[in-house]
Amino acid sequence: MATPLTADQLLAALKAEGLTVHEHTGWRTHNRDTATGKTFGPVHGVLIHHTAGHGDKELCYNGRPDLPGPLCHSWLGKTAGLWMIGHGRANHAGLVDLDVLNALIAEKSPLPHDDQANADGNDSLYGLEIENLGDGHDPYPASQYHQAVLWAAAICRKHGWSERSVAGHREVQPGKIDPSFDMDDFRADVKAELAKKPGGTVTPKPTPSTPRVDLSRLITAAKTDPAARQGHVTYMAGTNLVEAALVKLGYLGKTYAGDGSFGSTTVTAYSKWQRHLGYSGKDADGIPGKASLTQLGKSSGLFTVVA
Ligand SMILES: [Zn+2]
Repeated sequence: MATPLTADQLLAALKAEGLTVHEHTGWRTHNRDTATGKTFGPVHGVLIHHTAGHGDKELCYNGRPDLPGPLCHSWLGKTAGLWMIGHGRANHAGLVDLDVLNALIAEKSPLPHDDQANADGNDSLYGLEIENLGDGHDPYPASQYHQAVLWAAAICRKHGWSERSVAGHREVQPGKIDPSFDMDDFRADVKAELAKKPGGTVTPKPTPSTPRVDLSRLITAAKTDPAARQGHVTYMAGTNLVEAALVKLGYLGKTYAGDGSFGSTTVTAYSKWQRHLGYSGKDADGIPGKASLTQLGKSSGLFTVVA
């Protein structure tokens, strides 16, 4: 928990970390504080997103008809560099799980298995939108990924936080799959950056790794969620990715995906996927196995599997 950085402090911290920072006109006073009557802060951590589009800097500043801008604090272009978009409350996180927020405050690792969207994330999280389609195929250039690491590290360093104050949107809100790279690896990269003096020699990181889905945690979700109360969530980040993959390949309707719960509809969809692969009987019961899950990750491009 901490008092939000002033615009000048934030700018200085980002530059000290070695970033070249561009400033969108008006960013210093662009926020949702007055309109909502809710003041930004205290702050608890930083949240990483992909934009699911291209050329969307102005969209992040202006917002959409249903969601006024700013949609982030900073926007990171594929090649256009890092831009300051807003300062204060921004519409990027939405409702998040209170348990996860508390884990970020306490810097607990790993983040808990969240099951609710019951806390205001826009109030307390810095948000970075990274320009990327997020389809598992659109690459993140090494320099873009490196700037994202520096952005997160700069804020953590200034607040005295560790890399455990960093989360991906899909880790805090049901239905979100962003960002489309692995957050454990990202946190490790932030940790390595924090261990160095800021602004040292810039050695671009390799491009980020694909998100990993833990097979055993997913199996637990598929066996637990259908029998539990509606919308019960056992393994949000993994289920979000698997449901997105099933939607992408046409095995699950978009309306059924996105609550982070591996419910009976998802089990049925997964069973269809298993039958598509040639499995039958108990091997097509909708409970993920290593081969079918690995193939789903490969075909969708959205994740890899760890057992
Ligand atoms: Zn997001």
